[in-house]
Amino acid sequence: MNILLMGLPGAGKGTQSEMISTDYSLVHIATGDIFREAIKNETELGLLAKSYTDNGNLVPDDVTNSLVKERLAQNDVSENGFMLDGYPRTLNQAEALDKNLNDLNETLDAVIYIDVDKEVLKDRLSGRFICRNCGATYHKLYNPPKVEDTCDTCGSHDFYQREDDKPEKVSHRIELQMDSIRPILEHYQDAGILHQINGEDSIESVYRNIRGILGE
Ligand code: ADP
Ligand code: AMP
Repeated sequence: MNILLMGLPGAGKGTQSEMISTDYSLVHIATGDIFREAIKNETELGLLAKSYTDNGNLVPDDVTNSLVKERLAQNDVSENGFMLDGYPRTLNQAEALDKNLNDLNETLDAVIYIDVDKEVLKDRLSGRFICRNCGATYHKLYNPPKVEDTCDTCGSHDFYQREDDKPEKVSHRIELQMDSIRPILEHYQDAGILHQINGEDSIESVYRNIRGILGE
């Protein structure tokens, strides 16, 4: 099975994808995570991406498209299926993805758009924190670790807040992506594979809806 998980920043893609990739054994490909890892390791890609991600802008399409193309061509993807998270984010990326999948003889089974109001997104991003060791995502009010200051997944006590989740960066990211995501939704609506779900429900309820779409 090959799926896309779409939504504006803070919609819950990372939170839901942790559960989906475990239950459905899909290869999880999150372009934001790939860029953050490259920036941390100061690779050529990281140096290029940093100026864009720091300002909440999108990394240019040609860079992002070739990165995803390379990743989709790896064996684990054809063996297990994939879940793309945070890609495509422009119509150009959606068209490049269509072409790549066509070349690989793969198809998309479902596109899930997690719909959340802009003000709710701001509130979520301002309270988001992440485990530095394993990348698990939490929220100080809505999704805290079960034991204070201890990651549920790996037991680490080392958390951080993303630089681009600072309030002055958040509005720009949301506005920019609202504009670029609209034509992509139309694109997949026309293809008959778009599922829009209400992302303002609880984490468990959103996941139940996703399972309903993907099948038990
Ligand atoms: P994305 O990957 O789409 O940017 P995240 O999965 O990181 O979003 O979620 C953003 C923040 O909102 C995190 O702090 C997360 O714990 C919280 N969150 C995710 N889903 C929900 C939900 N359904 N209700 C309340 N908070 C949520
Ligand atoms: P995310 O973790 O998905 O919120 O992404 C973090 C940042 O990485 C974004 O603000 C962009 O700068 C960059 N990024 C992630 N995915 C894409 C994409 N598909 N196209 C362009 N830039 C992206």
